[in-house]
Amino acid sequence: MLVLCTNKSEGQEYMLGKTHLTTGVAVSLLLVKPDTLPMLIVGGAAAAIGSVISDIDSDYSDARQKADMVLGFCLSLVVSIIAADAIWHFGIYESLRSVTTLWRMILGAGMFIVICAYGRSKPHRTFMHSVTALILLTANMEIFAPIMVAYFIPAFWTHLILDLLNRRRVRLFWPLKKGYSLRLCSSDGFINHLLFSAGCVGCAVAVLTSPAITGIIETATAMSGVK
Ligand SMILES: [Zn+2]
Repeated sequence: MLVLCTNKSEGQEYMLGKTHLTTGVAVSLLLVKPDTLPMLIVGGAAAAIGSVISDIDSDYSDARQKADMVLGFCLSLVVSIIAADAIWHFGIYESLRSVTTLWRMILGAGMFIVICAYGRSKPHRTFMHSVTALILLTANMEIFAPIMVAYFIPAFWTHLILDLLNRRRVRLFWPLKKGYSLRLCSSDGFINHLLFSAGCVGCAVAVLTSPAITGIIETATAMSGVK
């Protein structure tokens, strides 16, 4: 999260934040409540991408490194899930194939990347921080796999809302020029730390209380009772 705003160098406003990641994932999982392990993993990944993808447009030199980290994080997340599914057979690929096709996945992922590449070339907090980008990215996630959309949208919105707390304006309705800022951030980063802590707790609660995990626990308990 980028709440360190006042009295800091401007570049620090762009820091990729663990706060964005934890709050976005927590909000999505608490709202949608995945009911199977594959959906918990796929939905969590969609939420994680939605929570940080906007900051690939960071512009200052050090922030550009953070933008690269966002891209690296999203790529490694996808690769890790594919590898984990291939090794441990979580059933993720089968779950996706039941609601989409390989060609849809290729088309959706390709267009998603094209939109992100365009957003990366635009100034910070413009296109990639707008409702326009949200609609375009969501449309391509719908093509990729419709079940991921419900996780992506709340995480993306969480990012926009948290950035609105900052001083730097967010052009929420790009290409319109008007930007918005609530200017509520704290110079010592207290709000950032508070939100990060809330995000961590929220993630833990969301995962542990999701039907996906409680179902596994109930099944394991019932099986141990039978023995
Ligand atoms: Zn941002």
